[in-house]
Amino acid sequence: MPYDGEYATYRPLHRISESQRVKNLLARSKLLETTRVTNVPRPVEAPAQASILPRFVLAIDGSYAEVDVKNGYPGAKVGYCTAASVLLDLHLIGELDAERPIDPVEFRKTEQAACIDAALPGSNVVTRRQNSARASFREELYDLFTDIVVDEDDRTNLLSTYEALLALKPTANPQHCPYKESHGCTSEFAIGRGCTTCPTCGRPVYSTDALRIHERFREVGTNGEAFGLVMQVLERLLAIHFLRCFERRNLLQRLTSLAFFIDGPLAAFGPPAWLSAAISRDLKRLNQKVQTATGHDLLILGIEKTGAFAEHFQEIDRMETPGQQLFSARQYMLLTDGYIKERVLYSDSHKRYGEDTYFGRKFFYKTQSGARIVASIPFLSNAQDTIDSDDISLYPQFATVCTLLDRLASSQYANAVSPLIAANAHAAIPLQLGSKVLTQLARMLLGTAGNGK
Ligand SMILES: [Zn+2]
Repeated sequence: MPYDGEYATYRPLHRISESQRVKNLLARSKLLETTRVTNVPRPVEAPAQASILPRFVLAIDGSYAEVDVKNGYPGAKVGYCTAASVLLDLHLIGELDAERPIDPVEFRKTEQAACIDAALPGSNVVTRRQNSARASFREELYDLFTDIVVDEDDRTNLLSTYEALLALKPTANPQHCPYKESHGCTSEFAIGRGCTTCPTCGRPVYSTDALRIHERFREVGTNGEAFGLVMQVLERLLAIHFLRCFERRNLLQRLTSLAFFIDGPLAAFGPPAWLSAAISRDLKRLNQKVQTATGHDLLILGIEKTGAFAEHFQEIDRMETPGQQLFSARQYMLLTDGYIKERVLYSDSHKRYGEDTYFGRKFFYKTQSGARIVASIPFLSNAQDTIDSDDISLYPQFATVCTLLDRLASSQYANAVSPLIAANAHAAIPLQLGSKVLTQLARMLLGTAGNGK
């Protein structure tokens, strides 16, 4: 067995792709024959620009890093996960548009101010009360959810939002006791709220164990996957948590002035994928209330910076004639099930693409400035919950979504979406650490705050 990274030193990657074994494998693999393709990309003109935009955009963006620590044990690591919430004031962006380009480094500073951050045990880090790294990781994750409070007046923690979603999880598929690997407990049960015990082995079980992230936790080696899952869950839970806090404060009718941008697709992958259906149900419930109060849908957008869909968008946009592109500015394409399965991720399954993982659907959009955006919009009603139709009238907020993307995408980073938010550095309002985030948001929405500068 070669060591990690060894291939890179003794055989360049391009030579591997030319090797006979790789060529033979490809010869046995399906090729997309463009002559037989039935789903051709058809960009459509975006709806006319919306005249009224929400004033604020709340961007939720997580990240994680795994760092080596010294505790006397070899290979000890800690995962550092953050979820930043940054509030952008579109009025300020309007004023600053003339000053582009804006320094993204400045933006990073404001992002730090709005972080929820957490250090979680990695391999070979065992907390005092526990006897394994995995058990430590589970307990710390539960404590983290317990500790996250965004509203100083209400003090409802992230755990309560999580447990409200957990209550929507079907109990038909009980899960393994979290001590299966470590202690051989074979019990299977549905995990409930709070801290309980396994009915067979009697060891402590946390409600957050239902996320099953610990099943991807490795006692030895790196835990990028587990920390990545924590971050993914945090970002999505935070968005729902904010909405539920607004609901408790009777502020849902103010949400027409706020749009949510979430990093990544509107989906939950891996062991916590069940969250997707629960989030979808709760979003539909919340949206119903917002609709009743305002006559509008919630504005939520997931933005994907990389991956198969971003690659595919780039590829179809490139025309044979140099300098020509398939998508003109302000054109979009709503991706259907048939298109995705034929053109992006091959599948002959009858099951809808992303059925178990997505609570929204994807579209491609080329902004006014020419940036290619891969985004998803949520299913906010049962009628919207389809990816067979490409009828955009199902999503009445789409004109606003496109206009928002026109405003926020940066021309200087065309085709690289990552600085979407960063480019607007100087318009970012740094939210205070911890429990005051919602208090400040509420103040903004009620229009009692200054412009945050
Ligand atoms: Zn057990």
